Amino acid sequence: MSTIFTKIVNGEIPSYKIGENEKCYAFLDINPVAKGHTLVIPKVEVDYIFDLNDDTFAELMLFARKVAKSIEKTVPCNRIGVAVLGLEVPHAHIHLVPIQSEADLSFSRPKLKLPPNEMETIAQKIRKNFLS
Ligand code: AMP
Repeated sequence: MSTIFTKIVNGEIPSYKIGENEKCYAFLDINPVAKGHTLVIPKVEVDYIFDLNDDTFAELMLFARKVAKSIEKTVPCNRIGVAVLGLEVPHAHIHLVPIQSEADLSFSRPKLKLPPNEMETIAQKIRKNFLS
């Protein structure tokens, strides 16, 4: 059975898409810890990020950097925090979170509840910077 993230890549379930290339895909986290919180995944279905082959791992990191730069241009922040947890969804992913301070990268705080239209607006703005 496919992971929920493979279903997103295949368009079987919706996502607030930021962008993709041949090997990777980026979309907003549905339960963001901050506005612009984005997930970057390899299209290949591998659970643990450090089990990816060298090429895919390198490609994912380069793709994550491009996405991070797009978020940075869109959401006011000090920088983009990077986290890997993988405790919930068994499909490798990197969390990219716009942060002002250390506390903003806390996954144990209550998540933001943003209405769908706001999520779509944020995704559109980041997507525009990703494509430019
Ligand atoms: P973790 O595996 O611990 O890194 O957590 C998985 C992350 O995926 C959480 O932050 C969830 O909010 C996020 N997530 C789960 N399902 C979806 C989905 N359908 N669309 C976007 N983000 C999701």
